[in-house]
Amino acid sequence: MKFKFPVVIIDEDFRSENISGSGIRDLADAISALDFEILGLTSFGDLRSFAPQASRACCFVLSIDDDEFADGKQDAIAQIDEFIRAIRQRNADIPIFLYGETQTAQQIPLSLLRELHGFIHMFEDTPEFVARYIVREAQKYLNALAPPFFKALMHYAEDSSYSWHCPGHSGGVAFLKSPVGQMFHQFFGENMLRADVCNSVDELGQLLDHTGPVAESELNAARIFSCDHLFFVTNGTSTSNKIVWHANVSPGDVVVVDRNCHKSVLHSIIMTGAIPVFLRPSRNHYGIIGPIPRHAFTAEHINQLIEANPFARAAKVKKPKILTLTQSTYDGVIYNVETIKQQLTGVIDTLHFDEAWLPHASFHEFYQKMYAMEGDANQPSVAAPLVFSTQSTHKLLAGLSQASQILVKDGSQHKLDRHRFNESYLMHSSTSPQYSIIASCDVAAAMMEAPGGRALVAESLTEALDFRRAMRKVDADLGEDDWWFQVWGPETLCPSGIGEQADWVIRQDEQWHGFEQVETGFNMLDPIKATLMTPGLNIQGDFAATGIPAAIVSKYLAEHGIIIEKTGLYSFFIMFTIGITKGRWNSMVTELQQFKDDYDHNLPIYRVMPEFAAKHPEYAAIGLQDLCQSIHQMYRDYDVARVTTDMYLSEVEMAMIPSQAWAKMTDKAVERVSVDEIEGRITAMLVTPYPPGIPLMVPGERFNTTVVKYLKFVRDFNARFAGFETYVHGLIAETDGGKTEYFVDVVME
Ligand SMILES: *Cc1c(COP(=O)(O)O)cnc(C)c1O
Repeated sequence: MKFKFPVVIIDEDFRSENISGSGIRDLADAISALDFEILGLTSFGDLRSFAPQASRACCFVLSIDDDEFADGKQDAIAQIDEFIRAIRQRNADIPIFLYGETQTAQQIPLSLLRELHGFIHMFEDTPEFVARYIVREAQKYLNALAPPFFKALMHYAEDSSYSWHCPGHSGGVAFLKSPVGQMFHQFFGENMLRADVCNSVDELGQLLDHTGPVAESELNAARIFSCDHLFFVTNGTSTSNKIVWHANVSPGDVVVVDRNCHKSVLHSIIMTGAIPVFLRPSRNHYGIIGPIPRHAFTAEHINQLIEANPFARAAKVKKPKILTLTQSTYDGVIYNVETIKQQLTGVIDTLHFDEAWLPHASFHEFYQKMYAMEGDANQPSVAAPLVFSTQSTHKLLAGLSQASQILVKDGSQHKLDRHRFNESYLMHSSTSPQYSIIASCDVAAAMMEAPGGRALVAESLTEALDFRRAMRKVDADLGEDDWWFQVWGPETLCPSGIGEQADWVIRQDEQWHGFEQVETGFNMLDPIKATLMTPGLNIQGDFAATGIPAAIVSKYLAEHGIIIEKTGLYSFFIMFTIGITKGRWNSMVTELQQFKDDYDHNLPIYRVMPEFAAKHPEYAAIGLQDLCQSIHQMYRDYDVARVTTDMYLSEVEMAMIPSQAWAKMTDKAVERVSVDEIEGRITAMLVTPYPPGIPLMVPGERFNTTVVKYLKFVRDFNARFAGFETYVHGLIAETDGGKTEYFVDVVME
């Protein structure tokens, strides 16, 4: 495989017609002759503006020009020093050479010399000799780059001999037999198909048994993520959660679960036949989910929950088997794990943090103590419980979709038995894992290797904070009397850089978060998730006279090329993953300004959202401001903010355990009942409104008045505002004669 990693040369004279210029060009030619690309630059400044490409270099060759030294020696050294430090912050290994004329080596401070792979004395050796030396070091560096599995896979794909085994496409050949197959082959390319191999290739090791290069890579990732065990999972964190659960929970076990959890955790409850008791997070009236209060993580509170639940109360063993907590909610609220581990020692022996959105936290002190694998990486844990973390590598790091991992930290009293655990791993894994996904787990981990990982996280934080500062600047420029979008977060923002964790700790005595019952220091907000708030609703849940529902903003942005991941009533959020760029968030700020202008001028929908207008001509002639106002008015009439907050906080009765309700469905003992008649009935399905995508009703629970009120609102709203429908999974829409009715599958009683 031929990679394109150029040798980067920085020399003021690279293009000059003088001795020094011709010397460096001779060296460049000699390097090119050895089949390496050259990137010649004439100043260090050039490199700063192309930082992303700097990661494509295979080595740096930097000139210490004699002239520069004569005029401003210190300056030149300081400049080179700064430059090399910037490289080393991200990359400890890339070869760096300095070159110049003989006398200058002594003038370089020792601290700098230590960072170098060599000092080249120009004109003392032939360019060919120097080139071979440079290329040898560059090659050594490139050879060591790939982590174990990715390396083995590349080797296998390159070297592929004819094989008779699956997958049926035989390295892509099957696709070549038809025109559409040819198209597929050309689109994805030879390598992707040749690397799509099956698990009978011995030299790649086995994912399911954790052997060979796969095992080496998992070990490598465990070291990088500072945990005792790490398992790559190729079916997403949805599967990782089920693996963790099935390894720890059996029918009739009491389990403690964050009510704000991903549906895969509820699926796990159904599959294992567990008896759940739920910890309820606070919510503010924006619909933002806050923390579960600290006192909830105590034996007293958990016992109360168990005693209040007729099934848990009657369980043979009341001690909960597992606790699952969403560690980083949709909006970025995270917990102090050290405190939770201490409080739950002796109460629950297995803790599971769903860190789908938090794989970056262990790489920067900004998040210290606020992630599952916290604690001294090289010391046995002092906390008793066994701790699991499940992470979606693909959400915030550089992983292919479905790339996920399970991390484990052994407790001082409870340790993982890998063999037993792996039985559950096998139960939920395909026997034909996708090797590209394994490779991306491997590479994503290697990218986070020190010092690069810390630099990448710092960069995401910097972008996130710069974005917040930019939004505030627009607000300040617009002045007091004008409106602008607010970004949810603490009042004070450090003026530059990333500041520190303390800036983002959620404090009891502050108002911005709108949560009751928070305890200072127990939670922080992860600034890389930015929730933007549109005007119309305040944190107390009161509607203003006018307002801009977020659904319209997000449709507007979509037509302007910006896709929003989650939209609430008056909020939506964007994320600063390690793939974010200045360009992306800058265009967000620009588009929001555009929206504001269009709104202020009340321009008609057909002009500002032509695609939407074409699909829904009924809105075409309406002004943007008028449309916002009519939807706002309806939200207001129904007091939707309070209704949605209340429904999540309302008491629901568990009439049967989730697995029993599920069994009613497979026994065909369920019926489809209109929302007008479901109050008091037991749901057989998960009912999940989007937003926020958090399950509202779990199979086995009885519909109460508050929840029914919300579902009726959804029906009325959807009838009135086609194109802005609120989607509720579990709510079945049936249209008859132009009228849409909504139903839920409930248990026959
Ligand atoms: C996305 C998500 C999951 C599932 O992860 P996938 O990798 O998409 O399967 C689990 N938990 C939480 C909190 C999530 O947000």
